[in-house]
Amino acid sequence: MNRRDFLTTATAASAALALGGCNENNRQAIDYSKHPQPKDAQSKRVHINKNKKTIIKLATSWPAHFPIMGTGVEKFAQRVKDVSGGSLEIKLYPKNVLVPALAVFDACSSGQIDAFHSGPYYWKGKNSAFSLYSGIPFGFTAEEINSWMLYGGGLDLWREQYAKYNLHPFLGGNTNIQMGGWFRKPINSLADMQGLKMRIPGLGGEVFAKMGVNPILLPAGEIYTSLERGVIDATEWVGPALDIKMGFYKVAPYYYSGWHEPGSILELTFNKYSWSKLAFEHQSIIEVASSEMNANMTYEFHAQNIVALQKLKELDVTLLQFPQDVTNAGKKALKEVIEELSAKNKDFEHVYSSIKKHLQLSKGWSDTSLRYFLNVR
Ligand code: CA
Repeated sequence: MNRRDFLTTATAASAALALGGCNENNRQAIDYSKHPQPKDAQSKRVHINKNKKTIIKLATSWPAHFPIMGTGVEKFAQRVKDVSGGSLEIKLYPKNVLVPALAVFDACSSGQIDAFHSGPYYWKGKNSAFSLYSGIPFGFTAEEINSWMLYGGGLDLWREQYAKYNLHPFLGGNTNIQMGGWFRKPINSLADMQGLKMRIPGLGGEVFAKMGVNPILLPAGEIYTSLERGVIDATEWVGPALDIKMGFYKVAPYYYSGWHEPGSILELTFNKYSWSKLAFEHQSIIEVASSEMNANMTYEFHAQNIVALQKLKELDVTLLQFPQDVTNAGKKALKEVIEELSAKNKDFEHVYSSIKKHLQLSKGWSDTSLRYFLNVR
């Protein structure tokens, strides 16, 4: 055994020990940097063993068969099985079956599960920069954020930062532009936003807070009742396709277009050690199938949103846009939030500077092409 082989074997063995023997007390002590990197795995490719089936445990933050997000992951798992000739199986665990919805990041980091499907902004408590991978207010559309991720350095930054948690992310879908939410009363000016109790997470929530809104975090199952009883005055959710199923239109009939979550990314993230142990062919299948999931989920949101919006119009929902002073205050608040988070966290500053550069260029092209086209169509 030469020195290089010895090092690789020793690293893999210590990583396996660390994962296998991990408990709450020693989890902190794991040095994730010692885990094999995907590049190492490629330099010493492991190939499919046709007599052995590989099983990946994948937990999601969604209930079983949850429209678009849940069903999209189910189609991905079926695709992987079909293309691999059954040699790779993704075993799905919907939320709370194996781990709670918002514990998937830690469960995957520690090796309890091999992968998860969720949204990066849920982990902003670990690193505020992670909220930038979901999307930012007044930021990228789905097409723009995908171009930043794949061709503007975004995915490399994301992988570099998740590697510190022993994780390896992929793009796993996009909601595209989300709606601004459902309000019990119309918003006529910024004054109407003061003290408003609204369910809104992520960077959007921080921006709304600076504008005088009181952001409330509620489990999905409690939003409708809270809105109906006036415990909250407003809620954002996703867009017509998913919002109509929640029934918000029955209790908060004013439906606003949005700018707080324009091209929100969903993630398919692997435990880095589980990923590096996969056969090269299986890694390739996952790369292709996740790319298909990322694209198709975006298109399915569009296809279902257009039908659901029509239904909402037939139900006499009032479609509105925020008054100009609210939008102006949102832009000012975003600037302050970005400055504060950049001053507190170098990672945030670093990721945001990459976004800012791509966004400036993207605005130039999108204004020239898309904005012109939509205006004349
Ligand atoms: Ca949302």
